Amino acid sequence: MLNAEAIAAFKAGLRGELIEPGDANYDAARKVYNGMIDRRPRLIARCADVADVMAAVKFGREEKLAVAIRGGSHNAAGLGVWDDALVIDLSRMNYVRVDPKKKTVQVGGGALWRDVDHATHPFGLAVPSGIVSTTGVGGLTLGGGMGYLARRYGLTIDNLLSVEMVLADGRFVTASAKENGDLFWAVRGGGGNFGVVTAFLFKGQPVHTVYGGPMIWEMKDAAEMMRWYRNLIAKAPDDVYGFFAFIVVPPGPPFPEHLHNRKMCAIVWCYTGPLKKAEKVFKPIRKFKTPALDLAGPIPHPALQSMFDGLYPAGMQWYWKADFVRTLPDEAIEQHLKYAATLPTLQSTMHLYPINGAASRVKRGATAWWHRDATWTEVIVGVDPNPAKKEEVTAWAREYWNALHPYSMGGAYINFMMEEGDERIRATYGKNYKRLAKIKKRYDPANLFRVNQNIKPK
Ligand SMILES: Cc1cc2nc3c(=O)[nH]c(=O)nc-3n(C[C@H](O)[C@H](O)[C@H](O)COP(=O)(O)OP(=O)(O)OC[C@H]3O[C@@H](n4cnc5c(N)ncnc54)[C@H](O)[C@@H]3O)c2cc1C
Repeated sequence: MLNAEAIAAFKAGLRGELIEPGDANYDAARKVYNGMIDRRPRLIARCADVADVMAAVKFGREEKLAVAIRGGSHNAAGLGVWDDALVIDLSRMNYVRVDPKKKTVQVGGGALWRDVDHATHPFGLAVPSGIVSTTGVGGLTLGGGMGYLARRYGLTIDNLLSVEMVLADGRFVTASAKENGDLFWAVRGGGGNFGVVTAFLFKGQPVHTVYGGPMIWEMKDAAEMMRWYRNLIAKAPDDVYGFFAFIVVPPGPPFPEHLHNRKMCAIVWCYTGPLKKAEKVFKPIRKFKTPALDLAGPIPHPALQSMFDGLYPAGMQWYWKADFVRTLPDEAIEQHLKYAATLPTLQSTMHLYPINGAASRVKRGATAWWHRDATWTEVIVGVDPNPAKKEEVTAWAREYWNALHPYSMGGAYINFMMEEGDERIRATYGKNYKRLAKIKKRYDPANLFRVNQNIKPK
């Protein structure tokens, strides 16, 4: 039982807010992006600064509470909130500072990618992130981070220069290649296991207007498109990125009416080479099979990053399954087609995100992220706004994943995993797991930070 006086003292010392059950904003504050998650934390400390984070970590440790860290709240498993826990909510710490001379970007631990894109774009810079701009910088980065710029500039962690963090024992430290190198190695893929990151320092990459957007093809052409795409991505230069998707076409603009609500396949492109060469680069792509809808063209990077935000507002039911994939044999393509034909709802989808190119040239042991030899991260999500559809979208995603899992590499991107147990986490980190467990023991021996894809201290 928590002592009311201790809570009052904790609250009085915070520059931010302390939210408790019964407070008017408690229900709003405990909600996360995935509407399937309905957890009731004991306290939510909405921190305003590093001092607040230090006070919260101390309180959590002394009161023996489970501590959940909340950045952008997008986590698949909803690990930014936990029953009876203390939530350290970083959403107020969302500043972004660009240093145009050094081409670096400092970002508060609770910022969203749209905050970063907004701040960097006028300087002609971008930090490699994901494909939806409402996702948090914190969780995405600490899990690895992959998106449109992965083939050209690597994963998000490959662009991370340092972090400032509060450790389980309350110390505030910087981790970089020069300082606390073991910690810096571990946070680049090891998730929120090692402490609360209050600030990230990234390298900004020279990205302003790219050539990108979706091309959509008929489902009858999907097998041929997938086979062609598998060969294209294996050999494409780093500046050509395209993720493959099975989709239901949204019933509204910019999609023409005759395509509305139809199941189709798509590739969403992001070409970062010289714009004047783009038409030439895409000529053979368009020639292979003319798309039923072609929306690819010059587009500001933040516009591409936020293109799907509207299709995926917060609060829907999400069931996630994922794997790492090296090759796409014809038998796997057959299975893909079978489940794509039964996409259960408008937002349910399967994506293959390429992570070869620059991301694959970083050595396996250089960061905690192990699967540098994967060609794609495959993700299957059953999604719908209606809670009554929860069972249906879950069953579809599970069955689809079961059919494809035999063609995968073992392990999955931790940011796309729900609660799948220790074995899957170990498989994800491969031979890096042992080192991660040792570093965990050094920095968090009591496993204070255990509301995550947990690495046990050893
Ligand atoms: C619609 C959607 C699209 C996505 N697209 C992509 C994509 O293109 N590429 C990609 O790589 N991922 C993508 N993801 C997955 C995303 O990376 C994860 O959901 C990630 O966990 C989100 O981070 P967050 O800060 O929003 O999450 P939260 O739920 O707030 O946090 C998740 C976990 O991260 C840790 N954490 C967060 N912030 C901190 C911090 N500052 N310090 C310490 N630990 C912290 C904690 O352990 C926490 O439990 C997507 C997710 C969604 C819902």
